[in-house]
Amino acid sequence: MANIHQFEVIVVGAGGAGLMAGLYASRGAKTAVISKLYPTRSHTGAAQGGISAALGNYEEDKPEWHIYDTVKGSDYLGDQDAIEFMCNEAIDTVIELEHMGLPFDRTPEGRISQRPFGGHTNNETGKPVRRAAHAADRTGHMILQTLYQQCIKNKVTFFDEFQVLDFIVVDGRAAGVVAVELATGELHTFHAKAVIFATGGYGRIFEVTSNAYAYTGDGASILLRRGIPLEDMEFFQFHIPAFTNSASSSPKARGEGAVLINGNGERFMPKYAPTVKDLASLDVVSRAILTEIKGGRGINGKNYVYLDIRPETVNKFAAKDGRTNPDGSPYKITGDTVLQKIPDIVDFCRVYLGVDPVTQLMPIQPTAHYAMGGIPTNKYGEVVVDDKGTTVPGLFAAGECACVSVHGANRLGTNSLLDIVVFGKHAGLKAAEYAKQADYGKLPQDAEASAMSQFEAMRNGSGKEAVYDLSNEMKKVMFSEVGIYRNGSAMEDAIDRIQELKEKYKYVKVNDTGKIFNTELLNAWELGNMLDIAEVVAMSAVNRTESRGGHSREDYPNRDDVNWLKHTLIRKTNGKFETSYKPVVITKYQPKARVY
Ligand SMILES: Cc1cc2nc3c(=O)[nH]c(=O)nc-3n(C[C@H](O)[C@H](O)[C@H](O)COP(=O)(O)OP(=O)(O)OC[C@H]3O[C@@H](n4cnc5c(N)ncnc54)[C@H](O)[C@@H]3O)c2cc1C
Repeated sequence: MANIHQFEVIVVGAGGAGLMAGLYASRGAKTAVISKLYPTRSHTGAAQGGISAALGNYEEDKPEWHIYDTVKGSDYLGDQDAIEFMCNEAIDTVIELEHMGLPFDRTPEGRISQRPFGGHTNNETGKPVRRAAHAADRTGHMILQTLYQQCIKNKVTFFDEFQVLDFIVVDGRAAGVVAVELATGELHTFHAKAVIFATGGYGRIFEVTSNAYAYTGDGASILLRRGIPLEDMEFFQFHIPAFTNSASSSPKARGEGAVLINGNGERFMPKYAPTVKDLASLDVVSRAILTEIKGGRGINGKNYVYLDIRPETVNKFAAKDGRTNPDGSPYKITGDTVLQKIPDIVDFCRVYLGVDPVTQLMPIQPTAHYAMGGIPTNKYGEVVVDDKGTTVPGLFAAGECACVSVHGANRLGTNSLLDIVVFGKHAGLKAAEYAKQADYGKLPQDAEASAMSQFEAMRNGSGKEAVYDLSNEMKKVMFSEVGIYRNGSAMEDAIDRIQELKEKYKYVKVNDTGKIFNTELLNAWELGNMLDIAEVVAMSAVNRTESRGGHSREDYPNRDDVNWLKHTLIRKTNGKFETSYKPVVITKYQPKARVY
């Protein structure tokens, strides 16, 4: 064990959650942040929409309304104590980010500007409130830059491009992690008193996703292998609908008159929403798109349709629908209107898709976007392993890899950036507090053995299975069988197929036997994580015989509060999965019927 490092607190991950945790931990303990990506390349940087806080900078708003909206949005599965904690902390946290130097947009009076977002309302009038604080469409990018600078200023040690492979646990206590240095292929052991996992989500288990390539569920699957349960893994948000395999979404374009067109060249939304047509809500539109695709009416039979904002199309259908301007004149757009109203989307389509929306059709499809489930924690980021609140001393998690649970069955837009900074901060504080009174546990002699043997098996294996093929099949199965529409028999089939893939994975072939930046080997290792996570997601989903939030079952279309107002916990013991449950924390808001 040549490379041994010792820090009181180790943070795994340098996204918004990891950097906030690192910053706060470093104020009370010797802290290092380990990240497989250079910190500012983390997925937090892709978040455009904003971060929610009831600042009320344009119209009246209150944390209590934010709390209720989040509870309702979670389809009553969110833990209300944690939601109260997050929404009450939101205002101070956003102002703290501002004071750190985050360049938020401004109101004419110089306050932080806010924009409306789905589900954020004035609870008395039901009208939308502007609750999402934003820095242009680069809010996440700015959070990363700001927090990274603060960490550097506070002398946090960074191990960039080090990938954590294993969690060291001694006598039931956290003792560190094992990581590989990507540039050299060497293993390093990090001896710590406290470890905070902030490794982000796992959307890459699905064929079509807005998530970064790094979203392979490393943290969650490392802990699953070490006996820690995962919570509510059946709940995944299908952010809908977005331009093919990207993060940019379409509602704004539809607001300007764009229409959806299927492979037969037909405008299909009037079939599904005769009154509002293409302006129907996101879930209605996404289900309609999926029905068209499933019916073989995708473009050239493929899994996408077109969004058409070409002025001649918009003007034709606007006239047909009798759409008018506020002054009563007929609604009409020109090429210039398109450029003016949706500049980012035009830019995005031109740069990334090679399509000019003024003259061409934009390909769009429903997209796997956000993991509500993850490593179970309490509101201080401590990992909780059962229904009694039992913690693992020294083990913490925060951000998208964790499940506090503030998002319950469905996340409200802009609440996840809030989640990562609030719970990142508290995990950092608590970890430093823990580290101050704990001693270093004894490091086992064979700390690297498990990580080493996983690598050696792949490097020296005689198998013929290609990572790419196994990965592709997993993604396809998960997206079609455990995606937006789910039903029992298809999901059972998906579990069988994932298990077959796991069998084949034992014979995976890695051609590159080198050590320096061996991305092929790491991709193979990440595939192992994704297969574990995919299996847990499918098993949790088949087990939950109801529809709630992001979990939508054709065979059980209704929410069932009598049997299912509870969190799922899945753990792996001696190679076998065990399912248990824990109650939802309800403080003020009893479940109400879902309004479609
Ligand atoms: C396209 C897109 C747009 C979004 N827009 C919004 C929005 O507008 N508002 C909002 O609230 N939310 C938004 N979200 C969700 C939100 O951005 C994420 O949930 C959040 O940023 C996750 O932050 P994180 O710190 O948990 O993870 P990340 O920012 O992804 O960071 C994960 C870190 O873990 C590291 N890591 C992972 N595995 C390992 C390993 N094995 N070893 C070492 N390091 C590891 C990575 O290097 C990375 O640094 C969006 C998400 C996407 C994908």
